Parts: sequence; C-alpha cells; structure tokens
Amino acid sequence: MKSRNTKQKELILEVLKNTKMHPTIYELADMIATKDSTIGQATIYRNIKKFVNDGIIYVVKTKNGIDRYDYYNNHIHFECLTCGTIYDIYDEKIFKILQKKFQNNELNIQNYNITLDGYCKSCQK
Ligand SMILES: [Zn+2]
Ligand SMILES: [Zn+2]
Repeated sequence: MKSRNTKQKELILEVLKNTKMHPTIYELADMIATKDSTIGQATIYRNIKKFVNDGIIYVVKTKNGIDRYDYYNNHIHFECLTCGTIYDIYDEKIFKILQKKFQNNELNIQNYNITLDGYCKSCQK
C-alpha cells in the first residue's frame, strides 16, 4: 500500500501535469486544495522544491520575478508583456539547430529553457 506521503507527491505532480497554465506556487496550492484539502501548504511547498531540485518539474522564470512551474521540459515559452500569459511552443527543429551550433564549440546541450516575450493575440488589439 502506498504511503500518504507518496500519494500526496503523486497528486501534486498529477495536478501540474494536467494544467494547461503555468501556475505559480500559490495557484498550484489552490488547485491541490480543491482535490485534497488535507495536504498542508508547507507540504506542497516542500515537495515542489524537491521536485525542482530532482529535475522532475521545471521552473519558468517570469518578468515580474514570480516563478511559475511546468511539468514539461525542453520547449520554448512565450510570455505576454501585457497579460503575463505564458504560451508553449514545441519545435524539435529549433533544438536540433541549437545542438548543432553548440556542438561546433564542443558544448553538448542536454536541456534548454528559453523564454521569449512580446504581445499575445488578444493584447495586440
Ligand atoms: Zn496577452
Ligand atoms: Zn511550458
């Protein structure tokens, strides 16, 4: 039988995996509380930190300095300068191009974390 601890960890990961947004730790804590109100905030914060350290989840740095979290790695983020929404762009070709460029300098890329900014469709109006 799974320990309570393991179940809590799994729930945190499941919530992050299934959200389309890139939640802040507060938003994540809120989402988890609606699923299981018995998990304390301190437990959520502690586990999030551990997941980041262990490379299980990823931090997305934003312009206003508030960290957001992502279950997925190796894609490009676009942050809207007006509404702050973060969009995901997946493009294997870009990764291959970067890998090639860096290989020329004998650097071997394993992961990347790129954030571009600008204005999203609704903020351009
Ligand atoms: Zn926007
Ligand atoms: Zn993302």
